[in-house]
This record gives sequence, C-alpha cells and structure tokens, in this order.
Amino acid sequence: MSRSEKNRSVNSDEIPLAQRSSTVRSSQLKKIRFLLRGLFITLISFSFYFLFFFNSGQLVLKTQNNDIKALNTSDITLLGHFPYKEALKEDLISVYPGLEVHKDTYKALTEMSSAALKDGIKLVLLSGFRSIELQRSIFYERKSARNQVAIERAKVSAPPGYSEHSTGFAIDLGDGTMRQTDFEVDFENTPAFNWLNKNAARYHFILSFPKGNPQGVSYEPWHWRYEGTVEALEKFKKANNLLMKKSKYD
Ligand SMILES: [Zn+2]
Repeated sequence: MSRSEKNRSVNSDEIPLAQRSSTVRSSQLKKIRFLLRGLFITLISFSFYFLFFFNSGQLVLKTQNNDIKALNTSDITLLGHFPYKEALKEDLISVYPGLEVHKDTYKALTEMSSAALKDGIKLVLLSGFRSIELQRSIFYERKSARNQVAIERAKVSAPPGYSEHSTGFAIDLGDGTMRQTDFEVDFENTPAFNWLNKNAARYHFILSFPKGNPQGVSYEPWHWRYEGTVEALEKFKKANNLLMKKSKYD
C-alpha cells in the first residue's frame, strides 16, 4: 500500500465518525435555531403589543391605574387643555362693555343669578368669552412676565385655541360680598361657591377644573362651564369623556 493509499484508507475510516458527529451537531443546531426563532417571535409580538398600547395611550388604562397621570391624554390635549373653536360673533351677547358670553350661557346665567339672589347670594360675573387673540396675549404675556415655562403656565391658563372661554360657554364667577376671593382658591369658602355647588347643575353649569381633575389643570373653584345644549355638550365632549373614564377607575 502506497503512502497515499494508506492515507486514503485512514481518511475513509474516519468518514463515518465525522458523519455521526456532524449529524449530532446539526440536530443540536436545529434545536437551538428553533428555540431562538421562538424567542424572536415572542419578543417581536411583545414589542408590537407594547408599541400599540403606548401609542394609543391605552396601556395605562389597561393597567387600571387610577392615578391622574394614568389618564394623561397627551395625544389629544395640549398641556392638559382640549382645543376649542372660537364662538361665532352672532352667538355672543354683551353683558356689559368688554364682557360677552354665548346667548345660551347668558340665559342660564340670568336665571341662576336671580335664583341665587332669592337665597341671598350675590353672584358676580368676572369673565366670559375670550377671543383666541386675547387668550394668546394672556397666556404668553403672563408666562413671560412671571418667567414661567409653558408647562407651568398651562396649569393656570390655557394656551390660545385651547381655552373653554373661547366657546362663550365658560364663565368665571365671584361672590359679591367677598370680592377679595375673586380668582382665588379661597373662593371655595364663600357662600356663593357653597350655593353653586348645591345648585349650579340645575342651570346646567359644571365646575370645569375641580380638585384632582384628570386634565391636571389647577383647581379653579370660580370657573364654570355651561352644558345646557347639545351644541355646548359637543364642545366639551372630550373633557367629559375623560371625566367618565376617570370615574370608571375611581
Ligand atoms: Zn375661567
């Protein structure tokens, strides 16, 4: 047998061994590949699930976390405020120079004020309709004067185009006997606020920003909105839907 023949025979003897070993290795590889594929599919599925719920803002609701932040609808609000179109000029009524409200708000407010007066309560109308232009100067000028960033300012005032006051349905009320509480949280301790709390719903007024409101806006006991028509209700649909969601998890 020549050297080369010897080598061939040695090599040919080793072939079955090599085949056995490669068969074992390839079946192990198959198992690993199968497991990796399974893991990959699971990871992709979870990623899609989380992405979907994060994007729709529903994940927090799914977890039934009733923290205010859980209802944060950053996708539909601007710093906690919903968008509102400006009231039509022909729908506004001048209560006194420089103060207008929607005609429906005016009617309900007149009835509510006289009912309050019969109970010895003097409601004072502090502000009503605000044009988007006026809201723009209020928001940015005060923000600048107070050296506030938009997030801070938005807790106490809506950005232009996002104020309930632009609809003509929102009003700020004071107590005629305690004017020092105008636009102050202390208004909650006045007879007027106490009366409103008990009776405002009869005239279709609701407190827009109660304590712990889901929009995250500062508590404003003086700010009420009228919801006595479908037109008004539609304007505040998003705000009310958010309140309904919140109460579901309270
Ligand atoms: Zn207000």
